[in-house]
Amino acid sequence: MLKRQFAQHLLIGSGILQKLVDLAEIKPKETVVEIGPGTGNLTKKLLNTPLKRLFLIEIDPEMIEHLKNIIKDERVVFINADATNFDFSSLGEKNLKLIGNLPYNVASLIIENTVKHSEYIPYSFYMVQKEVAERIINEKSWLSIFVKTFYEVKYLMSIPARFFVPPPKVVSAFIRLERKDIKYIFDLKDYKNFLTKLFSQKRKMLKHKISQTCLKNAGISEEKRVEELELKDFISLYFAFQKSEKGLKFD
Ligand code: SAH
Repeated sequence: MLKRQFAQHLLIGSGILQKLVDLAEIKPKETVVEIGPGTGNLTKKLLNTPLKRLFLIEIDPEMIEHLKNIIKDERVVFINADATNFDFSSLGEKNLKLIGNLPYNVASLIIENTVKHSEYIPYSFYMVQKEVAERIINEKSWLSIFVKTFYEVKYLMSIPARFFVPPPKVVSAFIRLERKDIKYIFDLKDYKNFLTKLFSQKRKMLKHKISQTCLKNAGISEEKRVEELELKDFISLYFAFQKSEKGLKFD
């Protein structure tokens, strides 16, 4: 029984499922985590690869029971949990490859949680709403900057709604997040807070949001607006802000 509350749209078609697994380039001895395995269509394809271990993170206990009945493979670990706040460090592995046909209602939250655990996740492959993929890749928002600070995001392919049961109302996209080589230390809670505040009231000039000293130290004109900043500007501004006390001017 499919549940709307968990955004259960199953991917069907052996060809497309195989294509997604091929794109993930799973190598021998890799540890893979599947988010939202549902009835296990993608899971079965994943198990044809030489992966070492496969963690399945699924929120619906009925799906977990069903999966336990149909999948008998000692490489699999079943976890009944919510992927939006799952602690990936608890798996005790450093190099996780995440893959999933994500529940679209919480896809952004799962992506945000991936970034929070980037230390453990060098790669993720996600099926999301095409619009969500395009927003992260092409537009500027706190989330797109948050993701792109840590990951290179690549649009791999579009997937029409007819490949899903029931078909969603939107076109889907399969994307890859590839971790960048980050040399700086970020306090992620603080960085998110910094970005969301910079993006509130987007039309306001930066001088009304952040101190002149910070802008000067980051080499950014105070007349600029948030949408005119490039990724590297956000990073230099954040570090200038971290060094100063009370660098943000809000409310
Ligand atoms: N991968 C399957 C199902 C995709 S539908 C397939 O391609 O056929 C999305 C799946 O994510 C469903 O099984 C749903 O129960 C599960 N899900 C929904 N919210 C979740 C959450 N917060 N954490 C983990 N799984 C979730």
